[in-house]
Amino acid sequence: MLDEYLERERCVGTLIFSKNVALSSLSTFGTGGIADYVVQPCTKESLISLVSFLRSTGTRYDVFGNCSNTLFSDSGYRGAVILTRLLRNVSLTRDKYGATVTALCGVSLPALSERACRESLSGLEFACSIPATVGGALYMNAGAYGGCMADVVLSSQYMNADGMIMTTRDHLFSYRHSCYSGSNDVILECTIRLSNGDRDTIKSKILDNKEKRNASQPVGQKSAGSVFKRTDGIIPAKLIDEAGLKGLSVGGASVSEKHAGFIINKGGASSSDILSLISVVQDRIYSEFGVILTPEIKIVPEH
Ligand SMILES: Cc1cc2nc3c(=O)[nH]c(=O)nc-3n(C[C@H](O)[C@H](O)[C@H](O)COP(=O)(O)OP(=O)(O)OC[C@H]3O[C@@H](n4cnc5c(N)ncnc54)[C@H](O)[C@@H]3O)c2cc1C
Repeated sequence: MLDEYLERERCVGTLIFSKNVALSSLSTFGTGGIADYVVQPCTKESLISLVSFLRSTGTRYDVFGNCSNTLFSDSGYRGAVILTRLLRNVSLTRDKYGATVTALCGVSLPALSERACRESLSGLEFACSIPATVGGALYMNAGAYGGCMADVVLSSQYMNADGMIMTTRDHLFSYRHSCYSGSNDVILECTIRLSNGDRDTIKSKILDNKEKRNASQPVGQKSAGSVFKRTDGIIPAKLIDEAGLKGLSVGGASVSEKHAGFIINKGGASSSDILSLISVVQDRIYSEFGVILTPEIKIVPEH
């Protein structure tokens, strides 16, 4: 039934899909087994129809953006992995103080940050190198260098568990958390507020943020950014560094020498290598400091 639906929708150009896809080719960790289906809707409406269809048939699905905070299982994914990356429409309305920008969930956050810079709009400088989609960034309340999504988001539109299309201004944001975290809602689009700024100042802030990142993080290596959450002012990377765990490896997964909060896939890592390394680090940090580290990354089970 799913094949028929997908073929029909592909014929009318509303989505593309592939079967038996290696998740390692989709995730920034570069790990994960085979997904039965990877489906990419071309419009917001086709995302809504697809999710409605999958729910009505009891087919397992999850919605992802750039999979830059996601660890897929080595056993793969039985069901449909939905990617929003083709949903890239942005509308921008100017007023004398700045602009209100509405972006579909699949818009690249760095691309939106660059666009804001070109338009002399300030507010998204923090986002220039976070390899997220707008949907993933909103879900996670992504942030860096003193800024985060909570600072700029006005409202968002989503499909709730009953299939209703809703809008909210109340996102319950906290550190790497929003009202969407752990919910079954599908984020459709996000509206943000940016203020007028000086293009050269915005550009130099962006360059500054990129330089800081290049200097302190293993840019260009396969990872999902910081693996553990900061909680109660505790910086996991600092504890991991103090415990002497930089370079610690399990199989092809290693604690980055450059940033102790990152686990990198040095080549040939499996998701189980990464999970085992996470456990080893958690155990060592608990025994040395009595601190429980909680993963920030989203671990997707096979079933
Ligand atoms: C090199 C590197 C550097 C990073 N630096 C930072 C940083 O500085 N700051 C930071 O905060 N993060 C950072 N990250 C982590 C990551 O980029 C962020 O968490 C980002 O917000 C994830 O966006 P995504 O589109 O890739 O989400 P995904 O990984 O695709 O998904 C993350 C979660 O969001 C959900 N989701 C995604 N889209 C939707 C949608 N439309 N509707 C409902 N749920 C959805 C998914 O189901 C999943 O649970 C970094 C990652 C890497 C690889």
